[in-house]
Amino acid sequence: MLPIINLYTCKETIARLEDYLDRELSAEELRRVERHLKICHHCTRKFGFEKELLGHMRECLSRLEAPPELWERAALVIAETED
Ligand SMILES: [Zn+2]
Repeated sequence: MLPIINLYTCKETIARLEDYLDRELSAEELRRVERHLKICHHCTRKFGFEKELLGHMRECLSRLEAPPELWERAALVIAETED
């Protein structure tokens, strides 16, 4: 018999999706989520999709250029701290 007590249901796994992606789960929760993903195709797909989406969003954000005035202010702050 499977050690069902150590497994999350789909609902419990999905509820931890965001925390999982943000790496905010405890070691035990992480282990349970990963164990569930190994046996559940549905959740693996859902997690994969969210992960891709999140990765894409972060990539876009990191590509955003700061406005010139922000660079000027940053340069000023750096110049001030260099003295
Ligand atoms: Zn599942």
